[in-house]
Amino acid sequence: MNPGSVPAKFKVRIDADQCMLCERCVENCPYGTYRREGEHISVDSRRCVACHRCVAMCPRDSITIEEKPVDYRSHPLWTRESREAIYNQARTGRIVLAGMGNASDLPIIFDRLLLDACQVTNPSIDPLREPMELRTYIGKKPRKLDLRKKRNGDIELKTRLHPNLRLNTPIMIGHMSYGAISLNAQLSMARAVASEGTFMGTGEGGLHPALREFQDNMIVQVASGRFGVDIDYLERGAAIEIKIGQGAKPGIGGHLPGEKIDPDISQTRMIPERSDAISPAPHHDIYSIEDLKQLVHSLKEATEWKKPVFVKIAAVHNVAAIASGIARSSADAVVIDGFRGGTGAAPRVFRDHVGIPIEAAIAAVDQKLRSQGIRNEVSIIASGGIRDAAEVTKAIALGADAIYIGTAALIAMGCRVCGTCYRGLCPWGIATQNSSLTRRLNPDVEWQHVANLIRGWTLEISELMGAAGINSIESLRGNRDRLRGYLLDEAMMNILDVQPVGA
Ligand code: SF4
Ligand code: SF4
Repeated sequence: MNPGSVPAKFKVRIDADQCMLCERCVENCPYGTYRREGEHISVDSRRCVACHRCVAMCPRDSITIEEKPVDYRSHPLWTRESREAIYNQARTGRIVLAGMGNASDLPIIFDRLLLDACQVTNPSIDPLREPMELRTYIGKKPRKLDLRKKRNGDIELKTRLHPNLRLNTPIMIGHMSYGAISLNAQLSMARAVASEGTFMGTGEGGLHPALREFQDNMIVQVASGRFGVDIDYLERGAAIEIKIGQGAKPGIGGHLPGEKIDPDISQTRMIPERSDAISPAPHHDIYSIEDLKQLVHSLKEATEWKKPVFVKIAAVHNVAAIASGIARSSADAVVIDGFRGGTGAAPRVFRDHVGIPIEAAIAAVDQKLRSQGIRNEVSIIASGGIRDAAEVTKAIALGADAIYIGTAALIAMGCRVCGTCYRGLCPWGIATQNSSLTRRLNPDVEWQHVANLIRGWTLEISELMGAAGINSIESLRGNRDRLRGYLLDEAMMNILDVQPVGA
């Protein structure tokens, strides 16, 4: 079969009257879409991934990229995507990889949940004039507080408090490892979370020495490959996260190909240069909640019980029962990653077909933990394709304590969601280790964009809370009465525990 028989996805055009032959498009496209030929720029549209780097760099706005209309014979069952996946596998015999989040055309539950606002009978609150409390503590909370009166009359707290992370906003940045993304991308995000009083994850790739100045705002990850994990790494993190699963590819491990393991990444991950970094699907020492408990205890013991330990799982069918087990494992937070979670590379069949939406998972976990009287044992951190402040607010109203963003932070740094991270040639210097590309991302500039995004969303959350007459994030958490379902079926509303609009 001739691969050329698959139609190009995009049509790239250059307006020859505008073009000044500066060749910036040629220099900026790592996929080789453009070539200078005499007195014009020739275009190979088939190579284009619509990353828009050329569009952003063209000084004359001469470039147009259009999604090509599907020129297959239309068929409701045999879509372009299904046919192209088959052509691809017929040619290669391999698993089809895809980047970014779930791309199937399923309804997004957040879009069908509407927030409440005060009118007449209950006053709204103006966040510009009145204090709004968005500070969030992640970790175990005591069931009750024991106080003791001292001889001099002062009141003293007797209850031993567990270590908690203190966040100025319920927005954190999830785990994207050095290796999957560039050091410049990690540095930008680290500086942003430090400036906004929140946290980000290291991913499972270890902590690069350049990030140590931000270590008080970093959550170090322990995944099944144990890359980069030693006592120094654990002690540097503000919290430790055990990664069991990932929303974009539940049930399988990860693979960073050897060609990406340069000397710097090899040192940070503590593995030989150019060797494949393979994270097994399971942790080979965890086959039960008791095993998990042992690892949680070992990590706490190693860090003198000073750091909260999180456990991250993918949102799967039995997520509430699994989270209940995690809460009993003495972990301090459960991180649930929904099926829209982003990724650099996942098998397409997993990305689009395995797991459940984060909205249903948050509600199910929150209800289960409350019904078992153990909600105080763990915080709930939700992630998986969260796109704006309204979705953060809805996630908290469904029961989350805080959320992780991932793709949104990358978009703030220039990512155009072209979905080709797995090729290692990210034109924006994010998902690449190629030095000619990573230098395109300037951490001194991009940290501010990420910080602005977190700050802007935080302001919007305050406004949404104020409109609902709520001045503390504590009062929003799990407050499903402030949500209504629109065009959701009854079964889903029961899972979410929300009323329909009009009720
Ligand atoms: S970047 Fe724009 S102006 Fe420069 S060569 Fe390419 S199309 Fe022409
Ligand atoms: S990180 Fe880069 S390669 Fe990945 S989707 Fe964004 S722009 Fe494309």
